[in-house]
Amino acid sequence: MGLVRCPDCNHQISDRAPACIHCGRPMEVGPAAGPPADAPPPPPSRRSGPSTLSVAGGLLLAGGLVCLPADRPKLALAGLGAGLVLSAVGALWSWVRR
Ligand SMILES: [Zn+2]
Repeated sequence: MGLVRCPDCNHQISDRAPACIHCGRPMEVGPAAGPPADAPPPPPSRRSGPSTLSVAGGLLLAGGLVCLPADRPKLALAGLGAGLVLSAVGALWSWVRR
């Protein structure tokens, strides 16, 4: 059994399903049933913690950058600082655990 991607809702469904189980779109069953889902799912990462930290740092950094021109310079600077620290810690952590 293989998986194909629904062209309407982009969810992965069985290539034998007569219709998408997510949005109900009727599927063509047969050899030419849309693009094959070759890409295997990404393996579960054991380093989800540090990368999450980096993502949070990047978000804070972006938030600080967005807030910078606004009338909240202290908030923006706090976000920038926290984002920098979190990104640095996350990068350092993933480098150490490599
Ligand atoms: Zn669908």
